[in-house]
Amino acid sequence: MSAGTLYLVGTPIGNLEDLTYRAVRILKEVDFIAAEDTRVSGKLLHHLEINQPMVSYHEHNRKQRGLELVQRMLAGETCALVTDAGMPAISDPGEDLADLCHQAGIPVIPVPGPCAAVCALSQSGLPSGKWCFEGFLPTANKLRRERLDVLRKEPRTCIVYEAPHRLRTTLHDLADALGERRVSVSRELTKLHEECMRMTLTEAAAYYETHEPRGEFVLVIEGATQDPEQSAADQMAHAIQLTEELIAAGLTLRDAVKQAAKQTGARKNQLYQTMLAREK
Ligand code: SAM
Repeated sequence: MSAGTLYLVGTPIGNLEDLTYRAVRILKEVDFIAAEDTRVSGKLLHHLEINQPMVSYHEHNRKQRGLELVQRMLAGETCALVTDAGMPAISDPGEDLADLCHQAGIPVIPVPGPCAAVCALSQSGLPSGKWCFEGFLPTANKLRRERLDVLRKEPRTCIVYEAPHRLRTTLHDLADALGERRVSVSRELTKLHEECMRMTLTEAAAYYETHEPRGEFVLVIEGATQDPEQSAADQMAHAIQLTEELIAAGLTLRDAVKQAAKQTGARKNQLYQTMLAREK
């Protein structure tokens, strides 16, 4: 172990067996451990019988604390950064500290562990040759709309993190913005109630209307397969087919259009006009 080094140590995202031998050794050998939440990491360290000193390093103290940690590493100490779960710096504190260390000439060494995004991608079966990580979508309306607009044109498989209490809204927003794309919903990865469901975005939005979202979620969404104009044409073709099926099942034209537009993300007025034109 070299003096004055930052180790970014991946920790389990559920299953404790996913901690690597190397992670345990590094946590035992460093001079101190910087943790996002010392109580959460304290439980893991207690379980491993590791007693290295801990300091907190989180979103709200990262500026000042980051400078202090760099000073300690410049003085020759080794530091392991851990977060509550998974790889530090992936939708977690860490990127600022890694950046500060690089600027100060301190080596930054990853000690790989599980990352929910990568686990969900490999589980999804969706194209993984080219993919992008979106993390959490913004909650503010304008920023959210802007990101969704970017994703609408994004051809790569896209990974989104979401908290259970926001899952329903996010699935609806994604279905509205992206239309009938495949999504793989990974829930509670590596845990007792682990589950992976593959559906379309509209099906996923409908499913979670009637099922309470519980646990932690990663959404892996198929990229845009064609140019936006072609996608819109496909979406309309699907909406027309669905409208016809609903009419055959007994709905009025107006109700069928309403439901088909909701399910496919097609524009209601445009669908209505198209159906009227077909009837002539
Ligand atoms: N640094 C972590 C990583 O490497 O995956 C991510 C931390 S981020 C604050 C927390 C989010 O990761 C959760 O809201 C969820 O979207 C995802 N996540 C973490 N653990 C998970 C699990 N066991 N199953 C599914 N998603 C998980």
